[in-house]
Amino acid sequence: MAIDNSLARHVVAVIGGATAGSEVAHILAERGALVAVFEQNPRPYGKIEDGLPRWHVKQRKEEYEEINSRLDHPNIEFVPLTQLGRDLQFDDLAHHWGLSALILANGAWRDRPFPLEGADRFVGRGLIYQNSLIYWFNHHQEKSYQGTRYELPPGGIVIGGGLASIDVVKVLQITATLDALAARNIIEDMVKLEREGIEAVLKHHGLTWAQLGIAPCRLFYRRRVLDMPLSDIPSDATAKRAEALRQARAKILEKAQRKYLFEFQDLRAPTGLIEQDGRLVGLRLSRTEVVDGQARIIPHTEEEVRAPFVVSSIGSIPEPIADIPTEGEVYRYADARCGLLLDNDTAVFAAGNVLSGKGNIKDSLESGTEIGIRVAESYLGLSEECLSLGKAERSRAHQQAEDVAVAIAAKPPLSAQAVARLHERIKALQRARGYDGNYRAWIAKVTPPDLQ
Ligand SMILES: Cc1cc2nc3c(=O)[nH]c(=O)nc-3n(C[C@H](O)[C@H](O)[C@H](O)COP(=O)(O)OP(=O)(O)OC[C@H]3O[C@@H](n4cnc5c(N)ncnc54)[C@H](O)[C@@H]3O)c2cc1C
Repeated sequence: MAIDNSLARHVVAVIGGATAGSEVAHILAERGALVAVFEQNPRPYGKIEDGLPRWHVKQRKEEYEEINSRLDHPNIEFVPLTQLGRDLQFDDLAHHWGLSALILANGAWRDRPFPLEGADRFVGRGLIYQNSLIYWFNHHQEKSYQGTRYELPPGGIVIGGGLASIDVVKVLQITATLDALAARNIIEDMVKLEREGIEAVLKHHGLTWAQLGIAPCRLFYRRRVLDMPLSDIPSDATAKRAEALRQARAKILEKAQRKYLFEFQDLRAPTGLIEQDGRLVGLRLSRTEVVDGQARIIPHTEEEVRAPFVVSSIGSIPEPIADIPTEGEVYRYADARCGLLLDNDTAVFAAGNVLSGKGNIKDSLESGTEIGIRVAESYLGLSEECLSLGKAERSRAHQQAEDVAVAIAAKPPLSAQAVARLHERIKALQRARGYDGNYRAWIAKVTPPDLQ
């Protein structure tokens, strides 16, 4: 159905079309606004496609369809292959286009820098960041894949401690097992290894992990196992309750180790890089103690840990974008509670991971009760439950969209001429990308036949 440009209405731009962006866009479109969704990639599935390991087969497909059903709306103009900061400038959108609102839903895609001076010179030579590793894992088997390719010999080191770092150790252990089996002419299924666990699958072949003779990967965490952010602890929990929830974290880790056979060491932090022939071949790790919740290095406790590669999995933060003021790792807000960045003629809001400033699940867990533990276990493949991946994020984004709707309802709508001008501008961008306005047809065209 063609959009009617003879009406005065609000026009909103949303940056990023994934879980949060599609939810916000849909709600505002339902309320009659014309919404342009600018997405840097051909497909708008964000972390679901590129950040959560592809063994979440069913949940990923469901979430793709959730996003599609929200974006396929007569009041939404999807503009693929359009990146804020490259193809569009923040200053232009926020101050010169004349939009009613601009909503940043561009997620948290930058790995927090590895905390040792000069470490980044080893990227591609022994140092791997989590986001590019998972991107490779999810896509490298597609025929059209052109990204970085990783060799992952057994025995890698992972620095982390959150849920995403458990994903990383699972990727490493499953990949090493598949390779070791392939060397014995046994072709196994990645998803089966994730579901059943490594020992269980090896048993079908009359093998044990010890017989494979490969080094497990090792996860190092700077605080105590009880501090791992695998499930949340509400700030108002009694001491007894908080302790029980901390113990639950240790159990989650134990279950994950039993199923995926990685090694774990808490109370260690990297304090030095080991270089050989221009490559990173290990780390110096020092012991730590936890004082007032912070990990403190204990001097003179450094040990060398050598490994074929190191993966940094210490969190994802929003990408800095020219002209968006930042405060520490996150954007600077006029009112962080509702995600308001700028209260101009064009109100600027943030929604989803970009607002929490985190790319992980922790903030979407409801107040850290048993639900949090259930979600974490389901997410890590440690229980039979299969919970929706985007549900928590969608309900947060829903609330944010309501806030934006209230904010723009207080302003006069744009005149019919202004709407028509903006609409033509958006259409011109679509045409330049070869997008003809048919969302479903576009998705069919840009989805590789072997996308998982
Ligand atoms: C290990 C792990 C487990 C998780 N588990 C859960 C879970 O169980 N439940 C849950 O609710 N959440 C979970 N999450 C969080 C999950 O990431 C969010 O729920 C959700 O996918 C984030 O949605 P988003 O739309 O905010 O961000 P993203 O999914 O990151 O989407 C951002 C979109 O913006 C686009 N974009 C980025 N920059 C630009 C730009 N400059 N211009 C244009 N477009 C841009 C991206 O391409 C992407 O499509 C998990 C995350 C991780 C890492």
